[in-house]
Amino acid sequence: MELYDCVIVGTGPAGMGAAFHLSELRPDIRVLIIDKESTSTGGLRNDCKMNFTFPIGFPLEYWEKTRAEEMITCVTRYLNPDILTMRNLEVYERRAERLGVKLVEVRQSHLGTDGGILLIKELVERLKSRGVALSLRERMESVDAQKKCIITSRRELGYKKLVIAPGRKGFGFLQGIMDELHIPYVDNIVDIGLRIETRKKCYPIVQDYYDPKFIFPDKVRTFCTNSNQAYVVKERYRSRTGKYYYSVNGHAFSDKKNGNGLVNFALLKTVRFTQPLASGQEYAEMLGQMVMLMGGGKPLMQRVGDFRLGKRSKVESFSVDLYDFQPTLKECTPGDISLAMPSKILRDIWKSMKMLDTIIPGVLHPSTIMYCPEIKLYANKPRFLDEYFQAKQNIYLVGDGAGTSRGIIAAWASGIRAAEGILSSL
Ligand SMILES: Cc1cc2nc3c(=O)[nH]c(=O)nc-3n(C[C@H](O)[C@H](O)[C@H](O)COP(=O)(O)OP(=O)(O)OC[C@H]3O[C@@H](n4cnc5c(N)ncnc54)[C@H](O)[C@@H]3O)c2cc1C
Repeated sequence: MELYDCVIVGTGPAGMGAAFHLSELRPDIRVLIIDKESTSTGGLRNDCKMNFTFPIGFPLEYWEKTRAEEMITCVTRYLNPDILTMRNLEVYERRAERLGVKLVEVRQSHLGTDGGILLIKELVERLKSRGVALSLRERMESVDAQKKCIITSRRELGYKKLVIAPGRKGFGFLQGIMDELHIPYVDNIVDIGLRIETRKKCYPIVQDYYDPKFIFPDKVRTFCTNSNQAYVVKERYRSRTGKYYYSVNGHAFSDKKNGNGLVNFALLKTVRFTQPLASGQEYAEMLGQMVMLMGGGKPLMQRVGDFRLGKRSKVESFSVDLYDFQPTLKECTPGDISLAMPSKILRDIWKSMKMLDTIIPGVLHPSTIMYCPEIKLYANKPRFLDEYFQAKQNIYLVGDGAGTSRGIIAAWASGIRAAEGILSSL
């Protein structure tokens, strides 16, 4: 059995953060990073807008400002981003304030999906040149904490320290590992919402602020805005019971490409469950399946014009008169999202949309499309043994799948924090 000082599972930003930090501070140790996919690396591949301001992406139960800011400085050193200029924010801030809405100013960079792929290639080369071993198409199946080894789709790998960073899609996988290792956890928070797609001229703020972060009352916020050459996409998830459902998402290419004149962004509501509900994940999965049922196995979409009139959207809604742009996510069923989304969630989101339309008039144009559902599972909350995200002796759980982050920069920071713990005890 091959033995490494540290095995890292997942080449997303959390795994990368750990690998870069370990190899920088201890070039003498043997580090292996594996990924089940054929290309590295997780979520950097999509749009790759990076937020360098606390608390964006940093769950407050694990991060306090000073610590997070130290980490952001460290991540900035590894990624060397070009920070975008923001303009005219006072106007939007003033309008937002009057409604009790907050616009958070965030230092951002944006590479686009094409730029993200180039960054990944560069990061992989830099890791290799530091002597980190990389193995793609290798899936971690299980762990034997007694023998200190993991079983992968190819072999057994011995470790002194293990970092597991499987991302949001690895949420269920990580729960399986935590069950196996008797690591207590709760997953009582989910973010559920819609993705909005409209013409850029109906949401012109994106010319001044690439990914504007509005925080509305009732725990609703804007999230992950994409513009210029922007597309709505769907992600396939497998539920614990083996059924599939989709969550929508969005991405854009870099500014170099010709634009399609569209913008998309999510409006998400954070839902925190209390007892006796056992699993936020199962709740979200059932909601996802409900939409699949209504949409004949596809996500749903509805024009704002139809939604306002209480009518379902039909195929015709996507081709006539005022409805003058085509949805970028074609594989979606026109329908009535209010039949699939719990009313409390939809009510709060619609209220926020009306506020947004007051701040940026035009976003509720009848042609604007609401896609459903957008589900974010990142609220696994393992009981950690220490501040370094060690959940079992020598096993660290980090990134979006472990609930220590909600975005690229915080995921990278979580990996660094695990690496710090590892370095203090290797
Ligand atoms: C379409 C889309 C657009 C996004 N846009 C942005 C954005 O612009 N800005 C932003 O900050 N965030 C964005 N995000 C979120 C961002 O991608 C995540 O917050 C971030 O990638 C989390 O990092 P991570 O390392 O925890 O997980 P991931 O990046 O998901 O990486 C996890 C890795 O682990 C691998 N893996 C999982 N299970 C196993 C296993 N059993 N064995 C081996 N390997 C495994 C996966 O293949 C994956 O490569 C976006 C996400 C999506 C899906």
